[in-house]
Amino acid sequence: MSIFKGLEAITQENFPLGPLTTFGIGGAAEYFIRPRTEDELREVLARCAKAQLKVYTLGRGSNILVRDEGVKGAVIQLDPETFGAVTIEEDLLRAGAAAPLAKVVAEAARASLSGVECLVGIPGSIGGGVRMNAGGTHGDIGQCVERVKVMDARGQTFYRERDDLVFVYRSCNLAAPFVLEVELRLQKDGAKTIKNRMQKYWIVKKNSQPMNVASAGCTFKNPRGLPAGLLIDQAGLKGALVGGAAISRKHANYIVIKDKAIAKAADVLALVDQVRKAVEPRFSVTLELEIQVWPNP
Ligand SMILES: Cc1cc2nc3c(=O)[nH]c(=O)nc-3n(C[C@H](O)[C@H](O)[C@H](O)COP(=O)(O)OP(=O)(O)OC[C@H]3O[C@@H](n4cnc5c(N)ncnc54)[C@H](O)[C@@H]3O)c2cc1C
Repeated sequence: MSIFKGLEAITQENFPLGPLTTFGIGGAAEYFIRPRTEDELREVLARCAKAQLKVYTLGRGSNILVRDEGVKGAVIQLDPETFGAVTIEEDLLRAGAAAPLAKVVAEAARASLSGVECLVGIPGSIGGGVRMNAGGTHGDIGQCVERVKVMDARGQTFYRERDDLVFVYRSCNLAAPFVLEVELRLQKDGAKTIKNRMQKYWIVKKNSQPMNVASAGCTFKNPRGLPAGLLIDQAGLKGALVGGAAISRKHANYIVIKDKAIAKAADVLALVDQVRKAVEPRFSVTLELEIQVWPNP
């Protein structure tokens, strides 16, 4: 551990990543590091640069598949305790990057602030949510981002302002590897109206998506506005099974873990392959992954 000498309290070697992802499967990180402060993160990044270690930023692991062979390099997750605060001043909500989206949504509703109801049921952190521009049919987080505090690979922190941020479908133009803090500009609305909207969105989500089975949400991006799930369904793949993983019967764009005892990341990747091979010739569409595969060759 000489690379991270003095940082032993926050560093683990050969650390299993499966339990830190919603898939719950996959290999270990060569180094897993959980900085508690910006200074610690800066120091970790300096050591990684010196040792030429590849850096991976982990949020709540709800959009990530870790390959079975694991990840060489440093997987860094901001400490949820110290980077997870949510505060509200008038219509501005400020959240540490590790704050769960569920907490952001709940705090906004408590303050009668509207704008993030579209994030109901999404199990990520706000840092991951901004990076992925999380959302759905009722909107996405990018719509209310006012500014974002980031740290670049050299440990420099700066703000990216609303005017200079571009949010597109499941992506944004943030290049820095770490979102540290997010500010959202919300709108005052009736507490009951917000609650009703949240309930309505939640019911639609849980009725149409397999929310109580291990997965990483939608596997593929919707191509050219077409629902990927519909294409996969029409290709006859609902229920297709490889090892311990399957295409959900409830929503064909979800790959779910049927049997955690035997499931491998390779099973999920085999299903990804199977889907692409079935959908491409039929619809002339190459499905692009929404989930992030670590490492990505
Ligand atoms: C049951 C289920 C339902 C879902 N429903 C939806 C949905 O309706 N809409 C939707 O958009 N998504 C959905 N998802 C996917 C996922 O929850 C979102 O993409 C979420 O925003 C990922 O956040 P995370 O913290 O888990 O990020 P992770 O999965 O840990 O990481 C995702 C990406 O964000 C980056 N990242 C994470 N934290 C940071 C940070 N602090 N700074 C910089 N980069 C960071 C990672 O490097 C990675 O590239 C669903 C997932 C599940 C399991």
